[in-house]
Amino acid sequence: MFEYKLDNCSICKEEYTSNHIEATPGLKIYVCDNCFDAAKYNFIWICLSCGKVYIRPKALVIRNIKDHDLKRAYILCQDKEIIQGIEMCIECDPDGIVNFLRSETVGMEC
Ligand SMILES: [Zn+2]
Ligand SMILES: [Zn+2]
Repeated sequence: MFEYKLDNCSICKEEYTSNHIEATPGLKIYVCDNCFDAAKYNFIWICLSCGKVYIRPKALVIRNIKDHDLKRAYILCQDKEIIQGIEMCIECDPDGIVNFLRSETVGMEC
């Protein structure tokens, strides 16, 4: 059975879409065509705790990364649409965000 479900885009919260990705196993995030397009040029993180969305240009993110391994991981992923769910954002946990991104990226697969 094909279930056709429209939901509010989790990124822009404006468009309705049936496109979705699994940000973490079991958790669907709806992404409209516009936002999926934006993900080609930007890394997109969505806070699973408060729902805030962070969009950062890929080139800028990569340029600002000092850690060599982390940089390599992001460079490998820069051609993919990366939309990652994070448990806490900088507003939920101002001190934890850097650690989280770091540990998350080590396990990142492309
Ligand atoms: Zn959208
Ligand atoms: Zn948050």
